[in-house]
Amino acid sequence: MHEEPYAQSILDMALEKAGSRPIKKVILGLGRFSAIEPESLELFFSHLSRGTPAQGAILVFETVPVTLTCKTCSAVLTLDIPLDQPVRPALGRYLSRGCSCGSTSLSFSGGLGLDLIRLELGD
Ligand SMILES: [Zn+2]
Repeated sequence: MHEEPYAQSILDMALEKAGSRPIKKVILGLGRFSAIEPESLELFFSHLSRGTPAQGAILVFETVPVTLTCKTCSAVLTLDIPLDQPVRPALGRYLSRGCSCGSTSLSFSGGLGLDLIRLELGD
């Protein structure tokens, strides 16, 4: 149950952006390798947002692909992994194959976390 702090930080960000306007939808970028369960996040969000302008807001999840950045040439590799396939084996292949420049020194640059993309506000 590690989704609660994520739900709290998304709520804080959303409330700050919305001012006092009611929040109808919260569009989130969910990293393909984030290990965050959307259902748990929704549960915590709906609990934490009670009595705030975000009460009743719908969470919409958009999948953010995993990206690796080459530490040698700064190229960004986007891992194209179908949603019905596990990330880990494909990730292992990418990491061992390395960058087209020959370097295998890659760091994660996306797809691990959760981001607030945008809000849909009411009047
Ligand atoms: Zn490279």
